[in-house]
Amino acid sequence: MKILVINAGSSSLKYRLFEMETEQVLAKGVADRIGIGNSFLKHTGKKEILIDKNLPNHEVAIKEVLEVLTDPEYGVIKDASEISAVGHRVVAGGEYFTESIIATDSVREKMRDIIELAPLHMPASLMGLDACRKVMQGIPHVLVFDTSFHSTMPDVAKLYGIDYDDYKELKIRRYGAHGISHQYISEESAKIIGRKNFNLIVCHLGNGASLSAVKNGKCVDTTMGFTPLEGLIMGTRSGDIDPSVVQYLINKKGWDISQAISYLNKSCGVKGISGVSSDFRDLTTAANEGNERAQLAIDMFSYRVKKYIGAYAAVMDGVDMIAFTAGIGENTPEVRERVLDNMSYLGITYDKELNYNCPRGETVKLSKDDSKVLVYIIPTNEELVIARETLRVSSK
Ligand code: AMP
Repeated sequence: MKILVINAGSSSLKYRLFEMETEQVLAKGVADRIGIGNSFLKHTGKKEILIDKNLPNHEVAIKEVLEVLTDPEYGVIKDASEISAVGHRVVAGGEYFTESIIATDSVREKMRDIIELAPLHMPASLMGLDACRKVMQGIPHVLVFDTSFHSTMPDVAKLYGIDYDDYKELKIRRYGAHGISHQYISEESAKIIGRKNFNLIVCHLGNGASLSAVKNGKCVDTTMGFTPLEGLIMGTRSGDIDPSVVQYLINKKGWDISQAISYLNKSCGVKGISGVSSDFRDLTTAANEGNERAQLAIDMFSYRVKKYIGAYAAVMDGVDMIAFTAGIGENTPEVRERVLDNMSYLGITYDKELNYNCPRGETVKLSKDDSKVLVYIIPTNEELVIARETLRVSSK
Protein backbone atom coordinates (compact mmCIF):
# COMPACT_ATOMS: atom_id res chain seq x y z
CA MET A 1 0.00 0.00 0.00
CA LYS A 2 1.38 3.38 -1.04
CA ILE A 3 0.75 6.55 0.92
CA LEU A 4 1.60 10.08 -0.21
CA VAL A 5 2.49 12.54 2.56
CA ILE A 6 1.96 16.24 1.84
CA ASN A 7 3.33 19.19 3.81
CA ALA A 8 1.98 22.39 2.27
CA GLY A 9 3.39 25.83 2.97
CA SER A 10 2.18 29.13 1.53
CA SER A 11 4.53 28.87 -1.47
CA SER A 12 5.77 25.29 -1.26
CA LEU A 13 4.48 21.74 -1.29
CA LYS A 14 6.74 19.02 0.08
CA TYR A 15 5.89 15.39 -0.65
CA ARG A 16 7.07 11.94 0.24
CA LEU A 17 5.73 8.64 -1.13
CA PHE A 18 5.90 5.66 1.24
CA GLU A 19 5.57 1.92 0.65
CA MET A 20 3.86 1.07 3.92
CA GLU A 21 4.68 -2.67 4.01
CA THR A 22 8.34 -1.74 4.50
CA GLU A 23 7.89 1.93 5.51
CA GLN A 24 10.37 2.66 2.72
CA VAL A 25 10.47 6.12 1.08
CA LEU A 26 9.99 5.55 -2.66
CA ALA A 27 10.26 9.20 -3.70
CA LYS A 28 10.39 12.65 -2.19
CA GLY A 29 10.64 16.23 -3.28
CA VAL A 30 9.33 19.76 -3.14
CA ALA A 31 7.41 22.05 -5.46
CA ASP A 32 8.78 25.44 -4.50
CA ARG A 33 8.12 29.16 -5.09
CA ILE A 34 4.49 28.37 -5.97
CA GLY A 35 2.71 31.55 -7.10
CA ILE A 36 5.74 33.80 -6.61
CA GLY A 37 7.70 33.26 -9.83
CA ASN A 38 10.83 31.24 -10.71
CA SER A 39 9.02 28.16 -9.43
CA PHE A 40 10.56 24.71 -9.73
CA LEU A 41 10.08 21.08 -8.77
CA LYS A 42 12.89 19.15 -7.11
CA HIS A 43 12.33 15.42 -7.15
CA THR A 44 14.21 12.36 -5.96
CA GLY A 45 12.75 9.07 -7.17
CA LYS A 46 14.28 6.56 -9.52
CA LYS A 47 16.56 9.49 -10.45
CA GLU A 48 16.96 13.05 -9.23
CA ILE A 49 15.66 15.92 -11.29
CA LEU A 50 15.17 19.69 -11.00
CA ILE A 51 12.42 20.98 -13.28
CA ASP A 52 11.84 24.70 -13.88
CA LYS A 53 8.09 24.93 -14.20
CA ASN A 54 5.47 27.62 -13.94
CA LEU A 55 3.54 26.72 -10.76
CA PRO A 56 0.91 29.47 -10.35
CA ASN A 57 -0.96 27.65 -7.57
CA HIS A 58 -1.01 24.50 -5.40
CA GLU A 59 -3.36 22.67 -7.78
CA VAL A 60 -0.90 22.93 -10.67
CA ALA A 61 1.90 21.98 -8.26
CA ILE A 62 0.25 18.73 -7.13
CA LYS A 63 -0.56 17.82 -10.74
CA GLU A 64 3.14 18.25 -11.56
CA VAL A 65 4.09 16.11 -8.55
CA LEU A 66 1.84 13.32 -9.87
CA GLU A 67 3.37 13.76 -13.35
CA VAL A 68 6.89 13.24 -12.04
CA LEU A 69 5.86 10.39 -9.70
CA THR A 70 4.45 8.51 -12.72
CA ASP A 71 7.18 9.53 -15.19
CA PRO A 72 8.76 6.43 -16.80
CA GLU A 73 12.29 7.78 -16.26
CA TYR A 74 12.10 9.58 -12.91
CA GLY A 75 8.94 8.23 -11.32
CA VAL A 76 8.33 5.25 -9.06
CA ILE A 77 4.72 4.31 -9.89
CA LYS A 78 2.95 3.56 -13.17
CA ASP A 79 -0.28 5.34 -12.35
CA ALA A 80 -1.56 7.76 -9.70
CA SER A 81 -4.23 5.18 -8.81
CA GLU A 82 -1.49 3.20 -7.03
CA ILE A 83 -1.65 5.82 -4.26
CA SER A 84 -4.13 4.49 -1.68
CA ALA A 85 -4.35 7.50 0.63
CA VAL A 86 -2.88 10.94 1.23
CA GLY A 87 -1.71 12.25 4.61
CA HIS A 88 -1.67 15.99 5.19
CA ARG A 89 0.27 17.79 7.86
CA VAL A 90 -1.94 20.42 9.51
CA VAL A 91 -0.42 22.90 11.92
CA ALA A 92 -3.36 23.58 14.23
CA GLY A 93 -6.34 21.50 15.28
CA GLY A 94 -7.69 23.78 18.01
CA GLU A 95 -9.84 22.15 20.68
CA TYR A 96 -11.97 20.42 18.07
CA PHE A 97 -9.44 18.12 16.38
CA THR A 98 -7.56 16.14 18.99
CA GLU A 99 -6.68 13.28 16.68
CA SER A 100 -6.07 12.52 13.02
CA ILE A 101 -9.22 12.43 10.91
CA ILE A 102 -10.38 11.83 7.32
CA ALA A 103 -11.07 15.13 5.51
CA THR A 104 -14.76 15.33 4.60
CA ASP A 105 -16.60 18.47 3.50
CA SER A 106 -17.89 19.03 7.05
CA VAL A 107 -14.40 18.54 8.53
CA ARG A 108 -13.08 21.00 5.96
CA GLU A 109 -15.78 23.49 6.98
CA LYS A 110 -14.84 23.14 10.65
CA MET A 111 -11.22 23.83 9.80
CA ARG A 112 -12.18 27.35 8.78
CA ASP A 113 -12.79 28.18 12.45
CA ILE A 114 -9.24 27.18 13.26
CA ILE A 115 -7.66 29.69 10.85
CA GLU A 116 -7.87 32.40 13.51
CA LEU A 117 -5.71 30.29 15.83
CA ALA A 118 -2.88 29.92 13.30
CA PRO A 119 -3.32 32.67 10.71
CA LEU A 120 0.28 32.33 9.52
CA HIS A 121 0.08 28.61 8.71
CA MET A 122 -3.51 27.39 8.39
CA PRO A 123 -4.35 29.09 5.06
CA ALA A 124 -1.39 27.25 3.48
CA SER A 125 -2.46 23.88 4.94
CA LEU A 126 -5.94 24.44 3.56
CA MET A 127 -4.70 25.47 0.11
CA GLY A 128 -2.65 22.27 -0.09
CA LEU A 129 -5.55 20.14 1.13
CA ASP A 130 -8.10 21.65 -1.26
CA ALA A 131 -5.76 21.25 -4.24
CA CYS A 132 -4.99 17.60 -3.41
CA ARG A 133 -8.64 16.67 -2.77
CA LYS A 134 -9.56 18.16 -6.14
CA VAL A 135 -6.78 16.44 -8.07
CA MET A 136 -6.83 13.09 -6.21
CA GLN A 137 -10.48 12.20 -5.78
CA GLY A 138 -11.91 8.93 -4.51
CA ILE A 139 -9.18 8.18 -1.95
CA PRO A 140 -9.02 9.13 1.74
CA HIS A 141 -7.21 12.35 2.63
CA VAL A 142 -6.19 12.16 6.28
CA LEU A 143 -5.42 15.24 8.36
CA VAL A 144 -2.64 14.82 10.90
CA PHE A 145 -2.43 17.72 13.34
CA ASP A 146 0.69 19.17 14.91
CA THR A 147 -1.31 19.90 18.06
CA SER A 148 -2.91 16.45 18.64
CA PHE A 149 -0.08 14.96 20.69
CA HIS A 150 -0.37 17.86 23.15
CA SER A 151 -4.13 17.44 23.63
CA THR A 152 -3.48 15.26 26.70
CA MET A 153 -2.05 18.22 28.65
CA PRO A 154 -3.91 18.66 31.95
CA ASP A 155 -5.66 21.95 32.73
CA VAL A 156 -2.86 23.07 35.04
CA ALA A 157 -0.47 23.03 32.09
CA LYS A 158 -2.68 24.04 29.22
CA LEU A 159 -4.53 27.01 30.74
CA TYR A 160 -3.21 30.54 31.05
CA GLY A 161 -3.67 32.55 34.21
CA ILE A 162 -6.43 34.60 32.60
CA ASP A 163 -10.18 34.87 33.25
CA TYR A 164 -11.52 31.30 32.95
CA ASP A 165 -14.56 32.57 31.02
CA ASP A 166 -12.25 33.87 28.30
CA TYR A 167 -10.74 30.42 27.98
CA LYS A 168 -14.22 28.90 27.71
CA GLU A 169 -15.63 31.46 25.27
CA LEU A 170 -12.60 32.30 23.16
CA LYS A 171 -10.60 29.07 23.55
CA ILE A 172 -7.55 31.02 24.65
CA ARG A 173 -5.24 28.31 25.96
CA ARG A 174 -1.95 26.63 25.21
CA TYR A 175 -2.11 24.22 22.25
CA GLY A 176 1.58 23.54 21.56
CA ALA A 177 3.07 22.61 18.18
CA HIS A 178 5.57 20.16 16.61
CA GLY A 179 3.39 17.41 18.09
CA ILE A 180 4.09 15.04 15.20
CA SER A 181 7.82 15.15 15.96
CA HIS A 182 7.29 14.91 19.74
CA GLN A 183 5.08 11.85 19.17
CA TYR A 184 7.67 10.16 16.95
CA ILE A 185 10.49 10.79 19.43
CA SER A 186 8.43 9.54 22.36
CA GLU A 187 7.57 6.32 20.47
CA GLU A 188 11.23 5.80 19.52
CA SER A 189 12.32 6.54 23.11
CA ALA A 190 9.88 3.92 24.45
CA LYS A 191 11.44 1.35 22.10
CA ILE A 192 14.93 2.27 23.36
CA ILE A 193 14.07 2.20 27.07
CA GLY A 194 11.94 -0.91 26.58
CA ARG A 195 8.87 0.19 28.56
CA LYS A 196 5.92 2.56 28.34
CA ASN A 197 5.94 4.00 31.83
CA PHE A 198 8.74 6.51 32.11
CA ASN A 199 9.35 10.26 32.23
CA LEU A 200 10.72 11.74 29.03
CA ILE A 201 11.73 15.24 27.98
CA VAL A 202 11.79 15.74 24.20
CA CYS A 203 13.94 18.64 22.98
CA HIS A 204 12.84 19.42 19.41
CA LEU A 205 15.41 22.07 18.54
CA GLY A 206 15.05 23.33 14.99
CA ASN A 207 14.45 26.74 13.51
CA GLY A 208 11.21 26.49 15.44
CA ALA A 209 11.97 24.88 18.79
CA SER A 210 9.95 23.33 21.58
CA LEU A 211 10.27 20.97 24.53
CA SER A 212 7.67 18.55 25.76
CA ALA A 213 7.28 16.68 29.02
CA VAL A 214 5.97 13.18 28.30
CA LYS A 215 4.81 10.98 31.17
CA ASN A 216 4.00 7.35 30.39
CA GLY A 217 3.70 8.16 26.69
CA LYS A 218 1.32 11.12 27.18
CA CYS A 219 2.27 14.76 26.79
CA VAL A 220 1.77 16.62 30.09
CA ASP A 221 3.33 19.95 29.11
CA THR A 222 4.99 21.68 26.20
CA THR A 223 6.73 25.01 25.71
CA MET A 224 4.77 26.42 22.77
CA GLY A 225 1.43 27.99 23.60
CA PHE A 226 -1.58 29.57 21.92
CA THR A 227 0.79 29.99 18.96
CA PRO A 228 4.36 28.78 18.34
CA LEU A 229 5.69 32.11 19.64
CA GLU A 230 5.76 31.02 23.29
CA GLY A 231 8.54 29.13 25.05
CA LEU A 232 12.10 28.71 23.85
CA ILE A 233 14.15 31.36 22.09
CA MET A 234 14.09 30.24 18.44
CA GLY A 235 15.71 31.08 15.10
CA THR A 236 13.73 34.29 14.69
CA ARG A 237 11.06 34.04 17.45
CA SER A 238 11.52 35.66 20.84
CA GLY A 239 9.87 32.87 22.84
CA ASP A 240 8.53 33.80 26.30
CA ILE A 241 8.21 37.54 26.74
CA ASP A 242 6.26 39.92 28.98
CA PRO A 243 3.26 41.03 26.84
CA SER A 244 3.76 44.57 28.12
CA VAL A 245 6.79 44.72 25.80
CA VAL A 246 4.32 44.68 22.89
CA GLN A 247 2.59 47.83 24.13
CA TYR A 248 5.94 49.51 24.75
CA LEU A 249 7.24 48.60 21.26
CA ILE A 250 4.08 49.97 19.66
CA ASN A 251 4.45 53.26 21.54
CA LYS A 252 8.16 53.66 20.92
CA LYS A 253 8.37 52.49 17.30
CA GLY A 254 5.01 53.80 16.08
CA TRP A 255 4.01 50.29 15.01
CA ASP A 256 0.58 48.71 14.91
CA ILE A 257 -0.08 45.41 16.67
CA SER A 258 0.61 43.21 13.64
CA GLN A 259 3.98 44.87 13.09
CA ALA A 260 4.89 44.16 16.70
CA ILE A 261 3.80 40.50 16.47
CA SER A 262 5.58 40.09 13.13
CA TYR A 263 8.74 41.53 14.77
CA LEU A 264 8.52 38.99 17.61
CA ASN A 265 8.06 36.15 15.11
CA LYS A 266 10.52 37.11 12.40
CA SER A 267 13.19 39.53 13.66
CA CYS A 268 13.98 38.27 17.16
CA GLY A 269 15.36 34.99 18.55
CA VAL A 270 19.00 34.12 17.93
CA LYS A 271 18.91 36.16 14.70
CA GLY A 272 18.00 39.32 16.56
CA ILE A 273 20.32 38.66 19.51
CA SER A 274 23.35 37.84 17.35
CA GLY A 275 22.73 40.23 14.47
CA VAL A 276 24.40 37.46 12.43
CA SER A 277 21.92 34.77 11.40
CA SER A 278 19.13 32.50 12.54
CA ASP A 279 21.17 29.48 11.43
CA PHE A 280 23.30 27.75 14.06
CA ARG A 281 25.95 26.85 11.50
CA ASP A 282 26.58 30.58 10.97
CA LEU A 283 26.30 31.28 14.68
CA THR A 284 28.87 28.69 15.77
CA THR A 285 31.28 29.85 13.04
CA ALA A 286 30.88 33.49 14.11
CA ALA A 287 31.23 32.62 17.81
CA ASN A 288 34.41 30.63 17.11
CA GLU A 289 35.78 33.72 15.33
CA GLY A 290 35.15 35.76 18.48
CA ASN A 291 31.75 37.31 17.74
CA GLU A 292 30.40 37.94 21.25
CA ARG A 293 26.77 38.46 20.26
CA ALA A 294 26.75 35.17 18.33
CA GLN A 295 28.13 33.50 21.47
CA LEU A 296 25.49 35.24 23.59
CA ALA A 297 22.73 33.96 21.26
CA ILE A 298 23.97 30.35 21.57
CA ASP A 299 24.26 30.74 25.36
CA MET A 300 20.77 32.25 25.72
CA PHE A 301 19.18 29.60 23.48
CA SER A 302 20.82 26.80 25.49
CA TYR A 303 20.02 28.45 28.84
CA ARG A 304 16.32 28.46 28.13
CA VAL A 305 16.35 24.81 27.07
CA LYS A 306 18.15 23.96 30.33
CA LYS A 307 15.66 26.01 32.34
CA TYR A 308 12.67 24.18 30.88
CA ILE A 309 14.33 20.79 31.42
CA GLY A 310 14.54 21.72 35.10
CA ALA A 311 10.89 22.76 35.11
CA TYR A 312 9.75 19.56 33.41
CA ALA A 313 11.83 17.33 35.67
CA ALA A 314 10.08 19.11 38.55
CA VAL A 315 6.52 18.67 37.26
CA MET A 316 7.05 14.99 36.38
CA ASP A 317 8.84 14.20 39.67
CA GLY A 318 12.04 13.31 37.86
CA VAL A 319 13.16 12.39 34.38
CA ASP A 320 14.32 9.03 33.00
CA MET A 321 15.30 10.12 29.51
CA ILE A 322 16.13 13.29 27.56
CA ALA A 323 16.02 13.12 23.74
CA PHE A 324 17.46 15.74 21.40
CA THR A 325 16.09 16.04 17.87
CA ALA A 326 15.63 18.33 14.80
CA GLY A 327 18.25 20.45 12.99
CA ILE A 328 19.98 21.92 16.04
CA GLY A 329 19.23 19.07 18.46
CA GLU A 330 20.78 16.58 16.02
CA ASN A 331 23.65 18.69 14.66
CA THR A 332 24.83 21.33 17.11
CA PRO A 333 27.04 19.86 19.88
CA GLU A 334 27.72 23.34 21.31
CA VAL A 335 24.05 23.61 22.32
CA ARG A 336 23.81 20.07 23.72
CA GLU A 337 26.98 20.68 25.73
CA ARG A 338 25.65 23.88 27.30
CA VAL A 339 22.36 22.16 28.12
CA LEU A 340 23.90 18.99 29.58
CA ASP A 341 26.83 20.43 31.53
CA ASN A 342 26.26 21.02 35.26
CA MET A 343 23.25 18.72 35.50
CA SER A 344 24.67 16.81 38.46
CA TYR A 345 21.48 17.51 40.44
CA LEU A 346 19.74 15.14 37.99
CA GLY A 347 22.67 12.70 38.00
CA ILE A 348 23.45 13.24 34.31
CA THR A 349 26.82 12.15 32.99
CA TYR A 350 27.54 12.05 29.27
CA ASP A 351 30.34 11.44 26.79
CA LYS A 352 31.63 14.92 25.96
CA GLU A 353 33.87 13.71 23.18
CA LEU A 354 31.15 11.64 21.52
CA ASN A 355 28.88 14.69 21.70
CA TYR A 356 31.26 16.48 19.33
CA ASN A 357 32.07 13.49 17.13
CA CYS A 358 28.87 11.51 16.82
CA PRO A 359 27.64 10.18 13.48
CA ARG A 360 25.02 12.35 11.75
CA GLY A 361 21.53 11.11 11.05
CA GLU A 362 21.70 8.22 13.51
CA THR A 363 20.32 7.48 16.96
CA VAL A 364 23.19 8.02 19.41
CA LYS A 365 23.37 7.33 23.15
CA LEU A 366 25.22 10.26 24.75
CA SER A 367 24.75 9.38 28.42
CA LYS A 368 27.36 7.27 30.20
CA ASP A 369 26.39 3.99 31.82
CA ASP A 370 26.47 5.54 35.31
CA SER A 371 24.12 8.40 34.30
CA LYS A 372 20.80 8.45 36.20
CA VAL A 373 19.13 9.84 33.08
CA LEU A 374 19.43 8.36 29.58
CA VAL A 375 20.42 11.03 27.06
CA TYR A 376 19.93 10.33 23.34
CA ILE A 377 20.06 12.04 19.99
CA ILE A 378 17.20 10.66 17.89
CA PRO A 379 16.68 11.90 14.31
CA THR A 380 13.07 12.93 13.88
CA ASN A 381 10.85 11.57 11.11
CA GLU A 382 7.63 13.53 10.96
CA GLU A 383 6.63 12.25 7.52
CA LEU A 384 6.71 8.65 8.75
CA VAL A 385 4.34 9.51 11.62
CA ILE A 386 1.96 11.17 9.14
CA ALA A 387 2.16 8.09 6.88
CA ARG A 388 1.50 5.73 9.83
CA GLU A 389 -1.41 7.85 11.05
CA THR A 390 -2.84 7.96 7.52
CA LEU A 391 -2.63 4.18 7.27
CA ARG A 392 -4.23 3.71 10.71
CA VAL A 393 -7.10 6.15 10.13
CA SER A 394 -7.81 5.18 6.52
CA SER A 395 -7.93 1.46 7.31
CA LYS A 396 -10.52 1.91 10.07
P1 AMP B 1 15.08 22.39 11.28
O1 AMP B 1 14.08 23.49 11.49
O2 AMP B 1 14.83 21.20 12.13
O3 AMP B 1 15.30 22.05 9.83
O4 AMP B 1 16.48 22.97 11.80
C1 AMP B 1 17.09 24.03 11.12
C2 AMP B 1 18.26 24.54 11.93
O5 AMP B 1 19.10 23.46 12.34
C3 AMP B 1 19.13 25.42 11.07
O6 AMP B 1 18.65 26.73 11.11
C4 AMP B 1 20.46 25.26 11.72
O7 AMP B 1 20.54 26.24 12.74
C5 AMP B 1 20.45 23.88 12.35
N1 AMP B 1 21.24 22.93 11.58
C6 AMP B 1 20.83 22.16 10.58
N2 AMP B 1 21.82 21.39 10.11
C7 AMP B 1 22.89 21.69 10.85
C8 AMP B 1 24.24 21.25 10.85
N3 AMP B 1 24.66 20.33 9.98
N4 AMP B 1 25.06 21.79 11.76
C9 AMP B 1 24.63 22.71 12.65
N5 AMP B 1 23.36 23.17 12.69
C10 AMP B 1 22.50 22.67 11.80
